[in-house]
Amino acid sequence: MPRHSQQVSPCCSPKSAVFLDRDGTINEQMGYINHISRFVLLPGVAQAIRKLNAMQLPVVVVTNQSGLARGYFPESLLDAVHEQMRQQLLAEGAHVDGIYSCPHHPEAKVVQYRNACNCRKPKTGLLEQAARELNLDLSRSFMVGDRWSDLRCGAAAGAATVLVRTGYGRGEELYIGPQEAVQPDFVADDLLAAVAWISGKLCMPLPAESRCIGSECR
Ligand SMILES: [Mg+2]
Ligand SMILES: [Zn+2]
Repeated sequence: MPRHSQQVSPCCSPKSAVFLDRDGTINEQMGYINHISRFVLLPGVAQAIRKLNAMQLPVVVVTNQSGLARGYFPESLLDAVHEQMRQQLLAEGAHVDGIYSCPHHPEAKVVQYRNACNCRKPKTGLLEQAARELNLDLSRSFMVGDRWSDLRCGAAAGAATVLVRTGYGRGEELYIGPQEAVQPDFVADDLLAAVAWISGKLCMPLPAESRCIGSECR
């Protein structure tokens, strides 16, 4: 690849993005969200996503939803939950740029979802699909989640990783992390703290085509 290739058309070069796990990172960890009433945004999440929006960083939700494969709820419920998430964020001036879900499980009760897929985290299929469809550079992106499967997924995709201490995060940090080869680039108390760290990282010297894009970067 020519060395100048990324300078030819900066507006079309792949972008950094922030990938967010859903349950335990955006909304309260409640096991399967098998009813709309179980979707509860965590404090500070809308504000955190609004900051990412202001930094013009695409925000992409990547979520394993094996409850579909297990027959616990239909796709229409998943759609309704995501519509509610979008509306609740919108009410606070925040938006996500994409939502990618893995409905599969290798031993699914529901035959159409019985699949050893490549998109169930820690596999990287959801991130790769988003990167293709939204023109994202995974190697300059971030993956934020409350479980080691999120961190392993992000690291395998070449992204920087952040563990949040919401959801399963505190327990994973204590009992899972010490045995794991992959370690997070940062551990944050919540998504808001994760976003503060990410904005700092993006203000550091980056390759020539990059620059500080954060309105809040000083
Ligand atoms: Mg989670
Ligand atoms: Zn899948």
